[in-house]
Amino acid sequence: MLALLVDPSSPGGIRLAVDYPPPTPTPGEVLVRVRLAGICSTDLELARGYMGFRGVPGHEFVGEVESGANELRGKRVVAEINCIAPQRHAGLAELRKHDPARTVLGIAGRDGAFAEHLTVPAANCPVVPPTVSDRQAVFAEPLAAAVQVLRDCPLQPGQRAAVLGSGRLGILVAQVLARQPCELTVVGRNSLRIELCRRLGLNACELSDVPAGRPFDVVVECSGAPDGLREALRLVRPRGTVVLKSTYAGAASMDLAPVVIDEIRVVGSRCGPMAAALELLAGGQVQVEPLISAVFPLSRGVEAFAAAQDPAYLKILLDPTIHE
Ligand SMILES: [Zn+2]
Repeated sequence: MLALLVDPSSPGGIRLAVDYPPPTPTPGEVLVRVRLAGICSTDLELARGYMGFRGVPGHEFVGEVESGANELRGKRVVAEINCIAPQRHAGLAELRKHDPARTVLGIAGRDGAFAEHLTVPAANCPVVPPTVSDRQAVFAEPLAAAVQVLRDCPLQPGQRAAVLGSGRLGILVAQVLARQPCELTVVGRNSLRIELCRRLGLNACELSDVPAGRPFDVVVECSGAPDGLREALRLVRPRGTVVLKSTYAGAASMDLAPVVIDEIRVVGSRCGPMAAALELLAGGQVQVEPLISAVFPLSRGVEAFAAAQDPAYLKILLDPTIHE
C-alpha cells in the first residue's frame, strides 16, 4: 500500500513508499481504511527526529472500519491515539494515556494514518456521527487536545486568558476557551492568522500589541516555538498559570527563575476526550473547515509536508483515496 514514512536518510526526513506492507489487525484491533488525515506540528517534529520515531506517522484521521470488531464494521471512526493492551485497561483510569507500556499512534511504537490503511484498538475508536463530515471529523484529535486544556486548567468566570500562538492548535484551543465565561485573547505573530481569528469571532492581537503589565491570569502556550514558554512567562501575572501544549524535537534552554520568583504554575497538557470533541463538531460549536489550507493526495505527501511548514498555510490534509 501507499504510505509516508519517517526516514532520517531522506531529504526532509520523510519519504513515500509505494509497496509498504498493509497492516494486519491483532485481536481487539480494527483495520481502518483512511479517508482523510491531517498533518500537525508533531508530525513535522517527528520528521526532524522527535521521539526517534521510524515508520508511518499520522495521528489525526477519519477512516472506515473494514474488519475487526463486528459492531464497528463499515462505520466511520476517529481514534484516541494512546493504545494500551486490553488486559491493562482496569485500574489505569486517568493515567491510561501514561501507561508506560503504551504505544502511540504514528508517534511511538505504532504505525499511524499517513497510509491507505492502519490498525488501531477497537476500544480507541468512537464512531463519527453522520452529521459530522470527514473534513470536520479529521479535526477530532487536535480538538480533543484543545478540550483537555479546560480539564487541566478550569477557567473561573471573568478570568483573563490568552492563547499564545495563532496556528492550527491555537485556533482550536481559542475556540474552546471562547465558550467559557472568561476574557479571551489570541496572541499571535502572523497577521493573516490574526485576521482569520477575528473572522471566527475571536478577540486577537499581535504579540507586540499586548498591553504592558502582564495582563493574563492564564496563558495557554500553543506557539510551537522553542521560546514559547519564555514569552508565556512574560505575559502571565504573578501566581498565574501557564499551560504548555507544544512539543518540539529540540531541547529548549531557558532561565526558570521567573517561574519561582513569580510563583507561576506550569501545567503540561496533551491528549483529550475524543467523544467531547465529536460532540462539539456535531453541535457546530467549533468551526474547523476555515483552518483547511489544502488537501493533497497521499501520493504527494512529501510535498504536503513541505507545505505544512510554510507559515502561509494552516491545516494540510492528506487524502489517500485520491489517485493521481
Ligand atoms: Zn497532533
